[in-house]
Amino acid sequence: MTDCSSEIKELKFEEIDESYSTKEAIIEAKRCLNCKNPSCIKGCPIENNIPGFIHQLSMGNMGAALDLINEKSNLPAICGRVCPHEKQCEGHCILNHKGNPIHIGKLERFIADFDGDMGLIKEKVALKTRGKVAIIGSGPAGLTVAGDLAREGFNVTIFESENEPGGVLMYGIPEYRLPKEIVRREIRKIEGLGVTYITNCIVGEQTNIDDMFSQDFDAVFIGSGTAVANQLNLPGKELNGIIQASYFLRMVNLCQSGSLGNEEVPIKKGDVVGVIGAGNVAMDAARTALRMGAKSVSILYHRTCEEMPALKTEYNEAVTEGVQFLWQTSGVKFTGKRRKLTTFTVNTPEGECQLPFDKILVAIGSRPANRIVSTTTGIEVNERGYVITKERPYGMTTKKGVFAGGDVVHTPQTVVLAMRDAKKVAKGIAQFVDAKKLLEE
Ligand SMILES: Cc1cc2nc3c(=O)[nH]c(=O)nc-3n(C[C@H](O)[C@H](O)[C@H](O)COP(=O)(O)OP(=O)(O)OC[C@H]3O[C@@H](n4cnc5c(N)ncnc54)[C@H](O)[C@@H]3O)c2cc1C
Repeated sequence: MTDCSSEIKELKFEEIDESYSTKEAIIEAKRCLNCKNPSCIKGCPIENNIPGFIHQLSMGNMGAALDLINEKSNLPAICGRVCPHEKQCEGHCILNHKGNPIHIGKLERFIADFDGDMGLIKEKVALKTRGKVAIIGSGPAGLTVAGDLAREGFNVTIFESENEPGGVLMYGIPEYRLPKEIVRREIRKIEGLGVTYITNCIVGEQTNIDDMFSQDFDAVFIGSGTAVANQLNLPGKELNGIIQASYFLRMVNLCQSGSLGNEEVPIKKGDVVGVIGAGNVAMDAARTALRMGAKSVSILYHRTCEEMPALKTEYNEAVTEGVQFLWQTSGVKFTGKRRKLTTFTVNTPEGECQLPFDKILVAIGSRPANRIVSTTTGIEVNERGYVITKERPYGMTTKKGVFAGGDVVHTPQTVVLAMRDAKKVAKGIAQFVDAKKLLEE
């Protein structure tokens, strides 16, 4: 195995968006108008007390600022980096009308990083007296349920199939947008609340939901995301060189953490790469392929630029880095020589044409795996495999005591939307377990 971390560093995998210095952060915080009716809070899916933490920061009270953030969020260093701020808090900031909103994401990130570096706050660990909860999956949904319930006095164990907790934060979003050390730090913070992580444990193989109930768990939460990538059903799809974008991103992340060698990453120096799809996964895959040394990277999308699902900021970054875009371009077939991809035939507004590619990365969405629900009984899913849940208690599936939330219920969304849902499910679980304990008494 060859260590690729140093090579990748040369290719600029280090984080792009630089942090504020303390002085810059305080100057930015002082710009906040502290509106009487703050619309930034309305723009935040988890209703963070944004003016409150900014006000504390403007006075240099980092600990008080973090206390306010902690009331709503278990993952501020992550949300400060990857939330679509332009659509949420910053998009709603009154100063956005003049085109210069407060950089709320960067301020949140500054406070979370400051705490990470300085260890400002050591939260009290609640006594675990209210019941035992198993959580499947340690993405934003699982981590949020875990953090909220641990703070409320529940004994929480997370079962995670991967080597390290974090879900997409660890294995999907690339290092240059979200450094893995930051994710690890947030995970350790949640561990500090008394949460236990069991990694390398595939629920549905090594254990299942019925085993969990026989181990005295009072409730189970499924936060397993959407692990199965959608296939592109075109002639020639079995050729070597057609790769799922999520697999490629996972390999790069594993390589960077030192778990895999560079030779395992399917994009090589000099490859001519096409990416199919124009969501944020496609942008990440394209920009990561450039960092891996691809000679050129083109995104092919069947609709127009205006219809692209990726965030505008992600698109702009991709353009700046040299990613090319082919709009209204849809695939017809793959062809190759000796079972290796050479050409992608596409339909464009100008007619059919053949494009030479060494590799194609497919980024056309994902859906849940059925391993967890198929190894127990009573959990209903819809026709696309998403888990069906109830409003009361919020998040409970059709099986008593089993809850679900995040992408496995609501289709692939965003970190903060998975968190918002998970916070509501955590309340539903607490109500259910409390009622169960009362009945038992
Ligand atoms: C490449 C990429 C980039 C993205 N960029 C952004 C972004 O910039 N901003 C943003 O807000 N959102 C982004 N998203 C979306 C966001 O990451 C997801 O919406 C969010 O992670 C969903 O959280 P979750 O907890 O529901 O699922 P996941 O994060 O998918 O976590 C599910 C966890 O469950 C585990 N698991 C699955 N099956 C099992 C099993 N059988 N047993 C045990 N464990 C299991 C998985 O290993 C994983 O750890 C991105 C997504 C991708 C793929």
